[in-house]
Amino acid sequence: MASLIVTGISQLVTPRRTGAHRGAEMRDLLVVRNAALVLRDDAIAWMGAHDEWSGEAEEHIDLGGRAVVPGLIDPHTHAVWAGDRLDDFEARCAAVRYEAILASGGGIWHTIRETANASCAELVELALPRVEALIRSGATTIEVKSGYGFSVEAELRMLEAVRELQARVPVQLVPTLLVHIPPTDASEREQYRAMLCSKLIPRVARSGLARAVDIFVEEHAWSAADAEAVLRCAQAHGLGIKLHAEQFHRIGGLELAIALGALSVDHLEACSAEQCKLLGGARTVATILPGVSLHLGLPPAPGRALIDAGAAVAVGTDLNPGSSPLFSISAALAFAVRLNGLTPPEALVACTANAAAALGMESGALIAGRRADFVVVESEDWRNLAYTLGSSAVHQVWASGRRVAG
Ligand SMILES: [Zn+2]
Repeated sequence: MASLIVTGISQLVTPRRTGAHRGAEMRDLLVVRNAALVLRDDAIAWMGAHDEWSGEAEEHIDLGGRAVVPGLIDPHTHAVWAGDRLDDFEARCAAVRYEAILASGGGIWHTIRETANASCAELVELALPRVEALIRSGATTIEVKSGYGFSVEAELRMLEAVRELQARVPVQLVPTLLVHIPPTDASEREQYRAMLCSKLIPRVARSGLARAVDIFVEEHAWSAADAEAVLRCAQAHGLGIKLHAEQFHRIGGLELAIALGALSVDHLEACSAEQCKLLGGARTVATILPGVSLHLGLPPAPGRALIDAGAAVAVGTDLNPGSSPLFSISAALAFAVRLNGLTPPEALVACTANAAAALGMESGALIAGRRADFVVVESEDWRNLAYTLGSSAVHQVWASGRRVAG
């Protein structure tokens, strides 16, 4: 077996489990100074203070006094789409209302049209550089949603594009079926929902094209009652469930997420103090998306209040063409500190252990025996990851024991 010792680690930093926490949640950071990591094949064989290592390894790399943190996990992206939204962006900047953009066929309708017209191969070629940018920013696990399809065929094509991408990139991609915008006509909406439960979800579950189903609960999207029917169907087919909820209005999405035991409830910009307490007592992860607040100029989700209430908070990029063109998970981490009131350690836990929990995965920490996914920070102090803006504090990215960026 090939073994490699990585030395010259000023700080080896990882979330750790302390006390009786729920599920995979971790809150504290373990910091080992002057550390070493020993890799064997794709896994961590040993980790600790360098002077405590007495074994041998075939190869040796010296990081020259840099910090190492776990590979970052982006638990919420819409990285597969076609067409751009630059005209919308310019119009928005000139104070044109989004409703007017939608009425002229722009906005998300533009993305849905362009994505539906693209082939699977075209979607892969468009998404590949976006995923590669996320990897360079430190991501070693990336969730990718469908949701711009609007038909069985187009949704399946998006998920097939994610499957193709899985073979093209050296990191883990976690596919999610997103039930996004419903037809505006009430009877068509009913038909579409029935089709989701009778055709699309069973097919996705059978083919393993997604691990979870996500639904957008909002006044102009799906109601909580619609969402409950769709999510119960997903659960009956053995899929995890997630919700886009509490982005603009409180119409029952967050409460539904908790009642059904969703992996995560995402957005939460409109989450009230009472709802923070509800999430504080739940296993469902609160995923917040600072890129949206920054790009759209909306109030940020109450990250500080959620953590103070006891909720497990994760942070994602929400990479998408309309509301969050954020191609960097380390930037999302840094923005969560400024916009959502997280401390740097909380933001690191949010982008590692809690993001893993949001995907139903037992990872996100550096642990002997686990996959060797880690980020080498540019400097000796890991906090530069949360501090740096406009330049990358990521020196190298390693996934499954191999250097994949830097
Ligand atoms: Zn989203």
